[in-house]
Amino acid sequence: MAKGQGKVASSKSRIVAALPKACSDETAAVEFLEEQRWSETGPCCPHCGDTDVYQMRDRKTGQRNKRFLWRCKGCDKQYTVRVGTVYEDSPIPLRHWCYAFWAACASKKGVSAKQIQRQTGVTYKSALFLMHRIRWAMAEDWSGKPKLGGVVEADETFVGGKPRNKQAGKGPQKGWLKTRKTPVVSVVQRDGQIRSFVTADVTANNVGKILRENVRLDSHLMTDSSPIYRYTLGKPFARHGMTDHRHGEYAKPDGTHSNTVESAFALLKRGIYGTFHNVSRKHLHRYVAEFDFRWNRRGMDDGTRVASAIRNADGKRLRYREPAPKVA
Ligand SMILES: [Zn+2]
Repeated sequence: MAKGQGKVASSKSRIVAALPKACSDETAAVEFLEEQRWSETGPCCPHCGDTDVYQMRDRKTGQRNKRFLWRCKGCDKQYTVRVGTVYEDSPIPLRHWCYAFWAACASKKGVSAKQIQRQTGVTYKSALFLMHRIRWAMAEDWSGKPKLGGVVEADETFVGGKPRNKQAGKGPQKGWLKTRKTPVVSVVQRDGQIRSFVTADVTANNVGKILRENVRLDSHLMTDSSPIYRYTLGKPFARHGMTDHRHGEYAKPDGTHSNTVESAFALLKRGIYGTFHNVSRKHLHRYVAEFDFRWNRRGMDDGTRVASAIRNADGKRLRYREPAPKVA
């Protein structure tokens, strides 16, 4: 389960209630981010992790320091809530970050940089930068996490490409070859989490690696009847059910289907074509991470999802030299 899942109802509505002010007032934004970022640990030092920290105050007025500085008694360093996050070196006011976090977490199909630009008044370039960093905050690193189990659906879809070439070819493979659509492979545990990967090509090798690293062998795998699953990838699993899409079969009476992963793909595609008006192959993994993030927190209310995204932004600064997209 993701951090912050299963919070009590009162704190949920408190977060939603605090958002409008955090999006319009810089002090409220700082306090909001501080509260969400450190909600589980209590205020702590991003340099050394010490919780023996205090807010710095103006000597004369006793008011909070104008730069919202904290000091750590452990390492004697000063810091703000920005330090060690995706917004550390951003010149964009934190109230706009709050708005962008909110918008990205609350809208099912994502929020475009254009909308962020309109709502906050930052330039389009800044809005794009902001949203990419929020996507980076949302991105999960699945390596080392427990694998999916139970009933697990696996499938691939093809996204992107120039719309004018859409009609080219028949079937996803052909269409992709002609339009340079990019394959996305997803595995989703029924009533559980989804993990999606941008891959160079849909081969038994690439998809097999994704399955091995993310799905337990004692799972009941469900796929379509494409040859890679039928002849190779389905074999090692405890059970493997297939539906034959070419013959119009989408669900079997015994519960075999891949409708869960299909509906996740439908949402991704509506976002990519409807909200973002196409996405380059280079950036696709960021959008896929954003959609996975929301899917994996679909049971949360908007406020809890925002808090979860803000906590996910913690510690990302150090790794900001973003690793290359996972291309299996
Ligand atoms: Zn410290």
